[in-house]
Order: sequence, then structure tokens, then C-alpha cells
Amino acid sequence: VDKNSQRLTIAIQKSGRLSKESIALLEACGFKFSLHEARLLAHSSNQPVDLLRVRDDDIPGLVMDGVVDLGLVGENVLEEARLERQATQLPAKINILRALDFGQCRLSIAVPKEDNYRGLADLEGKRIATTYPFLLQNYLQQQGIKASTAVLTGSVEVAPRAGLADAICDLVSTGATLEANGLVEKEVIFRSTAQLIQRPEPLTAAKQAIVDQLLPRLDGVQMARE
Ligand code: ATP
Ligand code: ZN
Repeated sequence: VDKNSQRLTIAIQKSGRLSKESIALLEACGFKFSLHEARLLAHSSNQPVDLLRVRDDDIPGLVMDGVVDLGLVGENVLEEARLERQATQLPAKINILRALDFGQCRLSIAVPKEDNYRGLADLEGKRIATTYPFLLQNYLQQQGIKASTAVLTGSVEVAPRAGLADAICDLVSTGATLEANGLVEKEVIFRSTAQLIQRPEPLTAAKQAIVDQLLPRLDGVQMARE
């Protein structure tokens, strides 16, 4: 990505739960894109706008570092990145422009259904498997609970049966995955939707003009489908 480009660059998830709706939202706001499956970068044919299609985990850092101008990412991933970057002294500032109406999910603690769970105190001294160690530890600290974490980027829900952890902290939408793995949701620690974020440093006038045109359209699109 050329940092001096006059084209507004927007990072979105390449393939996953946010991809379709991210592109649909931008198209509903009037930008036209032709996407080639293999390409990282997609140019808009009717505006000086480029899409950068990456793993969702990379989006907060790219925006915080000003490598791209805007991003569409889940609040869960954004907050995890923010806490991690604060802990490691990396730039963690961000402008949240809008909360969006898709990507709803919650981050919850779940335990094996045969456990006689009575409350958070039961997790004291236990190990919890998660992909979100910073959000989890932030929550546990606020609640005054000391527990350790096992960080897994996938298959978190099998960790208790595999003997890797006593409980899990994972994203839940329907609860079907938990059920299938003999787990029961006990504590909701974070509720998330997709967010439109902007890098902390001011945009050039030309890029700002595009954002100023985008936001009212986005509000109109979201209002219309409320
Ligand atoms: P990537 O390959 O980009 O790292 P991923 O496997 O981390 O993908 P997905 O499973 O596609 O991510 O989820 C992306 C984001 O979508 C989550 O971080 C969350 O914000 C949101 N999300 C999670 N579950 C749901 C759901 N059931 N419905 C809608 N949005 C969800
Ligand atoms: Zn991811």
C-alpha cells in the first residue's frame, strides 16, 4: 500500500463472517468494486477508493499504524488488539466512526455441562482456553479473579475435553457449537458488532471529502434497514 496515495484505502476481511456484509455495505453506499478472488487489493471503478482484503486480526493494527485509512472489523477483534498494543507499547489510538448493524456476537465463558458451576469464583486458579487473552484477563481482573489462559487461535471449544483447560472463553452466536462440545455458556464478557474505524492521524482533504460523503450514505443505508 502506497502511504502517499490519494486513494482512500479501506481494509476489510478477505473471507469470513464479515466479508459479504462489508462489501455489500460499501456498495450500498455507492462504491463499485470488481473483486478477483486472489487479489489483496481491489480498486473501485467509480471512486478513488481501494479495498485491502486481509485477515480480520490484521485490520486494527493496519488502521492504528495508518497503513490504511479505514477498516471494517468486529469490536471484539478491535478491543483485543487495543489491549494487546497498549500492553506492548505500540500505537493503539483509533477513531471509531460508526457501530454497524452486522457481525453481532458475544464473547462468553463456558464450562463443561457436568461441572457444578455456581459463579465466577469457581474459576479461581483454573485455566481458560481462548483466542482473546487480553479481553479475558481484562475482565477477570475487573472481577477480582485469578485464572490462567491457554491461547488457541482455533478449536477452542475442544480444549476442555482434550484436557488443555477447565473452561473456555469464545465467541457465541447460537450456542450450537458449545452444545455439541458438552459446554454451557455461563458468563457474557463482551458484546460485539462490526465497527467502521479510521486511522488516528488526519486524512488528506481529498480523502476526508470521500469519508464525508460516505458517512451520511452509510447512516441512510443503516437507517433504512433498521
Ligand atoms: P480470519 O481468517 O479473517 O482471521 P476468523 O476465523 O478470525 O477469520 P470469522 O469466524 O470469519 O473470523 O469471524 C469474523 C468476525 O465476525 C468475528 O471476529 C466477530 O466479530 C464476528 N462474528 C463472529 N461470530 C459471528 C456470527 N455468528 N455472526 C456474525 N458475526 C460473527
Ligand atoms: Zn481472525
